[in-house]
Amino acid sequence: MRTTRPVFAAFDQGQIPEIAVFNQATTPLGLDLDKLVAALQKFVTDYVVPVWGTPARLVKTTGFKKNAWAVVFLDTADQANALAYHELTPGGFPLSKVFVKTIADDGASLTVATSHELVEMLVDPAINMLTTGPDPKAAYAYEAADPVEADSLAFNVNGFKMTDFIYPSYFEIFRKPNSTKFDYRGKVSRPFQILPGGYQLVFKNGKWSQITASVAKARALRREDRRQHRSEIRKMRPDRWRRSRPRAKRR
Ligand SMILES: [Zn+2]
Repeated sequence: MRTTRPVFAAFDQGQIPEIAVFNQATTPLGLDLDKLVAALQKFVTDYVVPVWGTPARLVKTTGFKKNAWAVVFLDTADQANALAYHELTPGGFPLSKVFVKTIADDGASLTVATSHELVEMLVDPAINMLTTGPDPKAAYAYEAADPVEADSLAFNVNGFKMTDFIYPSYFEIFRKPNSTKFDYRGKVSRPFQILPGGYQLVFKNGKWSQITASVAKARALRREDRRQHRSEIRKMRPDRWRRSRPRAKRR
């Protein structure tokens, strides 16, 4: 008897999604993309999967691939708009955009940013999960890397810096300080703690806002070009999400 594998949740979470990784940026990546894809695969399989149970098969491509999720490198949000990279892949699957020029201008790590997007896309592919937390009137975005967002917290995989990420226990308010591990690096000591470079997106009284641990981070977030970031997509109505219709890159 033939059976069809059930689809368990949003997109093909519960299956093993394939994720196409490709470069549309004109800004040099400054790294070997094949090697980065191999390191990202290791990051997912050896570090993220044991904690979150979200496997994926990464493959380097030259563009979108049928039935695959995607991570695309673009210069800036402006280029993404010009080339019609929107909220989803052309097939309607999760899409992460990594803005190479914006990251380089900020002096930040491209590989930390890429692994940040990747782990968050795997944990919450539809960018719609929220959890209860310390403020009983607020709901907290279920983002796996934001509270520990800092290049200084990164760890090394195959010679590439990868983001620290939080564990499910992070969102479990009943856990006592230091009673378990709350993030991969072991820098977080209690649920909902935000480390100095990190932040958390919160929904309260019908409005979204950001909680930061430092004034400096609050200022940095205001300066940053946040267009097309997950936090902005989260604020959109998902029925207004658009599929990408990629156009050729203008040189
Ligand atoms: Zn994030």
